[in-house]
Amino acid sequence: MKGILLLIPLVLTLSVLCAQDPSGSENIFVITIDGFRWQEIFSGADSHLISDPRFVMDTALTRQLFWDSSAEMRRKKLMPFLWNIIASQGQIYGNRLLGNKADVLNWSRISYPGYNEMLTGYTDPVCIPNIPVNNPNISVLEFLNSKKAFAGRVAAFSSWNLFPAILNEKRSRLPLNSGYQPLPESMEGEERGSINQVQGGVVQKKNTRSDMLTFLCAREYIQQHHPRVLFLGFGQNDEFAHAGRYDLYLEQAADIDRMVAELWYYVQTDPLYKGHTTFLITTDHGRGANPSTWHTHGLFTPGSSNTWIALLGPAILPVGEMTAVQHTYQKQIAATIASLLGETFQSAHAIGKPMELPAALSEKKPAAPRAEVASK
Ligand SMILES: [Zn+2]
Repeated sequence: MKGILLLIPLVLTLSVLCAQDPSGSENIFVITIDGFRWQEIFSGADSHLISDPRFVMDTALTRQLFWDSSAEMRRKKLMPFLWNIIASQGQIYGNRLLGNKADVLNWSRISYPGYNEMLTGYTDPVCIPNIPVNNPNISVLEFLNSKKAFAGRVAAFSSWNLFPAILNEKRSRLPLNSGYQPLPESMEGEERGSINQVQGGVVQKKNTRSDMLTFLCAREYIQQHHPRVLFLGFGQNDEFAHAGRYDLYLEQAADIDRMVAELWYYVQTDPLYKGHTTFLITTDHGRGANPSTWHTHGLFTPGSSNTWIALLGPAILPVGEMTAVQHTYQKQIAATIASLLGETFQSAHAIGKPMELPAALSEKKPAAPRAEVASK
């Protein structure tokens, strides 16, 4: 009996180590939805905003599309991939109604500092506002691209045209496609030509490209090059919110959910990716928490630091919506990305530690197999 008791701590330790072993995740897609609130992720359409004609042009039709008296049904209507697939096969962090919180730590709560915190793991006290100044901090994408196993296998696509500065394209030399940049000549196929033609035909090119075009560019690149690490930054939700268009903000969320579903389907049917690829989906910042401030965000807008994180992949336990009272921070994402690939993110600047993902064996496996692990 005493021997068995002595084994228990060893067994638990091994269980946790095995559970956190990231083997099996050889690739990762990091997908961001700019300025998309945790409120819609966990509760679907907002009851005040969806019926407000100031923010929704056709309230009756928008309610038909996205409303239900049950928050669980509403969120499923809005984002069926998130709540049918990720909620049953992955993990979703940030439901503050359950005490599970996710936040940015940067003080400005705007996009550049948010993506910096997320991708460099460093909450830089020197805030670069949303202007094209090259980021002095090293991102996890640049770090991974410097490793032999990942060199040339990292790529980034974004709707927002500021990513060449955020990821310091000049220094990092990451393959990057942002704003309305065309796909390069070096890529093959008719699709490339069609995408470039459509992009070239857009008359009013703003700072944020249509997310659909960003998605098509990324999909084409993925199919041709099979990157091991892909960053895909959607941007239109923030634009629609700033414009006060809650109807378009909801429609965009539904569109992105479908695009992510399509990407996951592709990954699960491609032999190079299937069973070895993780999706990490998150946002750069929250927004105002009430009907008078939802459209904006920043230091003076309460709720702007609140975020969420979703994970799906071979090393991610199917826990679903996280219900534990815990606090996850945006600066942990960079190290988590590296950790899921079996790497340890290192840089000259401070780095948030990886997220503590649920330990598999201690939660999921019965007692007997644990003893077998310990006896080896
Ligand atoms: Zn914004």
